Amino acid sequence: MRQNHKKLFLIVSLALITLLSACQPKWEIQLAEANEILGNIQYKDVVEYIEKSDKELQTIPLGQFLYNSDYTLIDQVTLITESNDSGSFNWDSIAADAAISAEGEILINGEGYQPATINVEPSPLADTIEYSIMDIAPTVAQMMDLPGLPDAVGSARISNTGDYEHAVMILLDGVQYEKLQSLVNAGEMPFFERFDTIEQGITVFPPVTTSSTAAFLTGAPPQANGVFGYGYRSTELTTLFDVAVEAGKTVKAVEGYGLAFNLRNADVTLSGDLDNNGYTNDNVFENSMEVIQTEMPDLLYIHFHDVDDMGHEFGPNSEEYETALIQVGGHLAEIYDALPQNTFIVIFADHGMHTTNEGGNHGTLMSLDMIIPILFFSK
Ligand SMILES: [Zn+2]
Ligand SMILES: [Zn+2]
Repeated sequence: MRQNHKKLFLIVSLALITLLSACQPKWEIQLAEANEILGNIQYKDVVEYIEKSDKELQTIPLGQFLYNSDYTLIDQVTLITESNDSGSFNWDSIAADAAISAEGEILINGEGYQPATINVEPSPLADTIEYSIMDIAPTVAQMMDLPGLPDAVGSARISNTGDYEHAVMILLDGVQYEKLQSLVNAGEMPFFERFDTIEQGITVFPPVTTSSTAAFLTGAPPQANGVFGYGYRSTELTTLFDVAVEAGKTVKAVEGYGLAFNLRNADVTLSGDLDNNGYTNDNVFENSMEVIQTEMPDLLYIHFHDVDDMGHEFGPNSEEYETALIQVGGHLAEIYDALPQNTFIVIFADHGMHTTNEGGNHGTLMSLDMIIPILFFSK
C-alpha cells in the first residue's frame, strides 16, 4: 500500500511538472530598436491569435506583433540569429509575406528563419503623422457637443467647441493616400483643391474595413474593441452612434450592397446596385442626396465602396481605380453643395490599397495600407 502511494505521488508529480512546463513559453523572440531590446514576441501571443481567428490559420502576419508593440510604419527589419547571423529586409516589400508560426519560425516569402532577435527600424514618417483613425469619433462627438466616447484613445482634433447643427462622415473605402494626392496634384479632383493639405492619418491593424470601422466608431484600438479583422463584425464598446442616439440625436447611414459592420443605432439605407451597372457609388450617391434633401439627420454616415472594389480587381495603379476615385470626387462636390449650412464634415478612408499579382489588396502593415487621408472641415 505504501509502495502504491509512493508510485502515485511520483506519477502525479511527473504529470504536474510536464503540465507546468507545457504552460511555459516555448520560445521568445526579442524585439529591438537600434539594437536595444524593447519587447518580445512569445509563443503564447501567436497561439492566442491563431485560436481567436475564425479561419484555420497556421501562421499570423508578423506585422500583427510589430503593431502590438506600437510600430505602424517601418522602414526595415533585421533578423538576427543566436549566432549573430543577420539578414535585413525592406519592410514594405515583405509586409504582405512575412508571418510567424506557433513554433516561432518566421516565414518570409515561404522561406523559414529562426531569429533570436528582430531589430526594427521605424519610418521617421511615423513621427510626423499626427492623425489617427481613432480621432474621428472623438472629433465628431465634440463638434456635435456630445458626451465623450468612454473607451476612446484618440482625441478631438479641432479645438473649438462644436456648435454644429449637423455632422456628416463620408467613408471612401480603400482610398490610397498617395494615389489621391497625385490625382489632386494632377488637377483631376477639383473638389479637394479647396484644402491646403490633405492630412495623413494612421489606421489600425489589420487595415481592413471591419477593424477600421470599429476604430473610427469607438475611438479605441482593436485590442480594446475586440474587432481583430475579418470575422468580427460588431463591438461591445460604446460607439459614436450609441452616444448620439443616447443624447437624442438622429443617426442615418447610407451603405452600399451590404453591411460590413454592425452599425448599431443608425437608421441604415442599403443602396445595392439597383441599376445593375456593376457599381454602387451612383446608388449610394443618389440615396445620400435624397436623405440630405428630405430628412437630413443630426448625424449622417455615407460609405462609398467602388474605389475599394476596383482596387481589389485591378490594383490601385489601374485606370479603373483612378476613374472610380475621380467619380467619387464629383459626388463629394455635389454632396457638399447640397448639405445644409452649419454642418461639420469628415472625409476619410478606412485603409489604403497596394498592388498584388492579382490586382490589389490591403490588410498588411505596409505604409500604402496603413496611411489614410483624413479631412475635417465644415460648411
Ligand atoms: Zn474597406
Ligand atoms: Zn477591400
